[in-house]
Formats: sequence, C-alpha cells, structure tokens
Amino acid sequence: MSLTPLLIQGPRIIDASSGMDQIGDILIIDGKIGAAGPIYQESLPEDCAKVDATGLVACPGFIDLHCHLREPGFEYKETIAAGTRAAAKGGFTSICAMPNTEPPIDTAAVVDFLRARSRTDAVVRVFPIACVSKGRLGRELCEMEELAAAGAVAFSDDGDPVYDANLMRLALAYSLDLGLPVTNHCQDLALSRGGMMAEGSVAGRLGLDGIPAAAEESMIARDITLARLTGGRLHVAHVSTAGSIPLLRQAREEGLRVTAEVCPHHLTITDQWVLGGRGVDADSAGPFSYDTTTKVYPPLRTQRDVDALVQGLAEGVIDCIATDHAPHETTSKQCTYHEAAFGISVLETAFGSSMQLVHQDRLSLPDLVHRLTVGPAGVLGHAFDNLASLGSGTPADVVLFDPDQEWLVDPQEFQSQGKNTPLSGVTLKGEIAATFVGGRLVYQNERSSLNTAVLGLEN
Ligand SMILES: [Zn+2]
Repeated sequence: MSLTPLLIQGPRIIDASSGMDQIGDILIIDGKIGAAGPIYQESLPEDCAKVDATGLVACPGFIDLHCHLREPGFEYKETIAAGTRAAAKGGFTSICAMPNTEPPIDTAAVVDFLRARSRTDAVVRVFPIACVSKGRLGRELCEMEELAAAGAVAFSDDGDPVYDANLMRLALAYSLDLGLPVTNHCQDLALSRGGMMAEGSVAGRLGLDGIPAAAEESMIARDITLARLTGGRLHVAHVSTAGSIPLLRQAREEGLRVTAEVCPHHLTITDQWVLGGRGVDADSAGPFSYDTTTKVYPPLRTQRDVDALVQGLAEGVIDCIATDHAPHETTSKQCTYHEAAFGISVLETAFGSSMQLVHQDRLSLPDLVHRLTVGPAGVLGHAFDNLASLGSGTPADVVLFDPDQEWLVDPQEFQSQGKNTPLSGVTLKGEIAATFVGGRLVYQNERSSLNTAVLGLEN
C-alpha cells in the first residue's frame, strides 16, 4: 500500500547525521524521506498532505539499545504491543529487546518468534538482542553465528553479567567476526551480593545493603582488558559511576572498540530519591521511609556520579542514552525495599528527563538528538545508519517534539503496562508531539496542536 505523500511544514530540523540544524520542511513519499530542509512548493507532489509543525523540532526517531519487552514469558509485566506503544509515545522508532525472557532468546527459534510477534504486534521497529550464554546461565556460549543469521543485532546476558572471564573472551572474539557488539551488564557479583542500592550514607541510614561502585568499575576494567586482547566489540550497558568514565575514556583514546550507554535516571536523579520525597525533602524524611520505585540496577548514585555521567555523555565518552525500560506489575513494587524487583518503566519519560540536561545548559539540543539517534546507531553498526538520518531515501522514522512543553508524569497514562516510576507527579519540560515509523503516524499527543487528521493514526 502506498501512503499519501506528506509535507511536515516549518519545524526546526535537527539531523545529527548530517549536522543539519535549520528551519525547513520534511517531505515523506512512500514511507521514505523525499527531502528535508528548504523545499520548493513547485516540487511537491499534487496530492501532498500538509501538517503544520511550526514551533516544533523534528529529528530522526530515537533508537533505544536497551529495553525489556518481557515477551515471551512475562506478559503480565509487559508485551510487545504495549511496550512498543510506549516507545512510540516516547519518540523511539527503533528499540532493541533484551533476551532475559522465558524462554530466553538463546536460539534462532526464539529470535524468529520475537520477530514474527513484532511484525503483528509492534508499532515501532523491534530488534532482538540474543543471549551470550545458553539459558543465560553463564556456562556455555550460545550459537552466536546462528543467532546473528536469524536477526540478532547484539548479544547480552543482561539482568546478569557475563561473569566468567573466559566466556566473555570467547564472546568478544566472536563479536569481531560477526561485527555485532556484546553488551555486558557489568557487575561483580561477589562485590554486589545482597546489595539493594548504592553503598553510601543513604543506604547506611536505611540499613540496606549497599552496592559499591567498584562492583561496576572492576568488571568494566576486566572487559576493556578483554576487548584489547580480542579486538572484539564491547558495549557497556547502563554506566552509573563516576569512576567508570576514565576507564571508558582511556579505552576510547587507545582506539579499542568499546562503546557505552547511560540511562536517563542515572543522568538526573540520585540515591536521595530512595528516601522518598523525590529527593527534595530527603534530609527530613523519616528513617524508615523509602520509595521502592527507585530500586534499579545499577542503583541510583550520588550527585557526583550524576555530574560525571552528564560530563561523559556531553564529551562523547558515553555514546548514547538507553532507557533500560524495565516494566513490572504493581505488586512487585508494593513490598519492602528488599523484596521489590529492580527496574524502572522509562520509555515514556526518557526524553522529558533527558531534556533537563538541555534546559540546564549541560548538553546542547543537537548533542541530545545525537545521543538518541546517531550515537546508538553507531554502536549497532553501519547497517543502522539510515535509521538515524533524514537523508533522502532513508526510512521516514521521524519524531516531532516541543522542547519547552511542560507535562506532569502520570503513570496511569502510560501506554506501558509498567507503571513503576519514581517520577510520578513530577513535571518534565519537553514533550513528544508525534512519531512516524516508515512514514506512518504511530503516535500523536492529543494535547499537541498538530493537525494530523489527514493521516489517521496506526493502531
Ligand atoms: Zn542490566
């Protein structure tokens, strides 16, 4: 089916792949970008539909390297249908699904299942990440070549680290041949054992076991050593400590194939939020008060860590922002901090949270767009370049947003089944107005003034 040609008129267009940052128009024909920039009316197709996007910003759709769609096996937490609608609402047009499902994504058959289910249920592009080890047990390497042939875009035992150094060495050696990254959830289990939150004064006050920063940093150091040994492609998941930054910087300067991601929550909130009161009244909060929605791995850390991560992201030592969207059913957070599940539902707040860095002048808007588009695409490899570009002929994956629009986070309005967020009731500044995948409108904010009635929303 061919789509009506569409002209998105008058947004500020930011395309980090070409360095474009100007007011212009975007022409979409047959699901692809016809042109972006100054477009002459005479050159438009006759039956072209028009949408006025004056005052908004347009850029390639965001790419998320790290989310948990929970399907198959945990459909009571999230499904591909709900998770991808959440992604569309958050401005993401391509998302990578982590393999800690049941069964885990450790055979070509499960990759096939995920791809088939995505074709029927997903409103954005879903790319499977396959396990490093069979059953995610950390003992025996998966058939990585077969998984890559089936469509896996990366390998990870996320939720757990690849703990065995020799297994990690083998996986990195294969990653070199396959041209796909190994994403490690870096956590030395002997150091983090039993830990609920960041080691420090807040953990001490609550009497909760802490996770030292060294649990993350020691495994990043190990993995960088193995990347040097093998020449393999290491991607470090959800960096959370200040001490990880110099390790990554040195690996980069050495020219190793080491990339890294950081989550919106680690860029914006601290372990003070564990005490409840959204970090504001933390010092006056009672000794037994805590908010289980702040329980996440890696844990929320100190302002010093946050500042170092923002600096690392701005500098480019960290390549991209990834959500680690980890939806859970309500009861898994209605319990003690000890019993609560790790994870935050992030897809729908990621952009608004990250915009705080722009409003605080700690990251430019074009750099934020880069870290949500070109940055993650670069981690996956050149096959993904066209998903992070508005160049002619690329798939028309486009997001429109209002950088200054304020909105209140209400988890009950989430498309995600996971309502678990510490940001409930918080006002964020920067809101998605509409999301297009392959030229099709997959999300429109009903509060936005955008008139897209001519297009019809895909369901
Ligand atoms: Zn993880």
